Amino acid sequence: MLKVEKLRSSYGRIEVLHDVSLEVDQGKMVALVGANGAGKTTLMRAISGIQPITSGTITLAGASIQGMPPARRVSRGVAQVPEGRQIFAPLSVEDNLALGAWVSPTKIERNRARVYEMFPILREFRKRAAGTLSGGQQQMLAMGRALMSDPRILLLDEPTMGLAPLLARQVMQIICSIREAGTTVLVVEQNVQAVLRAADRGYVIDRGRISMEGSAKDLLADPRVREAYLGV
Ligand code: ATP
Repeated sequence: MLKVEKLRSSYGRIEVLHDVSLEVDQGKMVALVGANGAGKTTLMRAISGIQPITSGTITLAGASIQGMPPARRVSRGVAQVPEGRQIFAPLSVEDNLALGAWVSPTKIERNRARVYEMFPILREFRKRAAGTLSGGQQQMLAMGRALMSDPRILLLDEPTMGLAPLLARQVMQIICSIREAGTTVLVVEQNVQAVLRAADRGYVIDRGRISMEGSAKDLLADPRVREAYLGV
């Protein structure tokens, strides 16, 4: 579904992604893990088109999307749930969802019904200002908003950040159900154990290079991953 090959990206003269290659097969959930500053957010932003790249290729379902502005990538099926959620706090839940639907306005009702089915709390609070929701509910809203564009692939950057353990588990379960409903998922997560338990495959990024890749199960069992990211 998504193929990234030999991607390079820099801030000014400082290169932070060095020849990064990664693949996400259709219908799968792939985890990207790595230390702070390894380049995870930069990679996600490069895929969604917010961060420029200096070389490399990005293809979605066999067609190149690199060089396209972010909005066109959304209409091709790439939706990003950014780090820190970035919901519109003064707007209602309903209006936040509507903003995610600009790419497929004719399907707004159907997509909204689907989002409410997945997140019943959003239906209940649909008239509330998004800023009054709890952190977990705001994360659900950010995911719901991304799903309003009917994406082929959902990019999630640190979806459980700042959430209490119970809510973090709930968010992870919701991500699994999004995948089960047929959406391909690429997720960056600090909670390495939880994300590798849920994902099909995983990549470890270290200082801008992919250092390991494999089935999530193998990575979870790998002593290097256990030592570096699980403190075992
Ligand atoms: P974190 O888990 O802390 O979010 P990350 O793996 O997502 O980390 P990035 O945010 O992609 O890492 O950062 C990769 C590198 O690029 C880091 O060294 C960071 O300091 C640097 N960097 C990130 N954003 C900028 C920016 N706007 N300008 C300059 N350097 C940046």
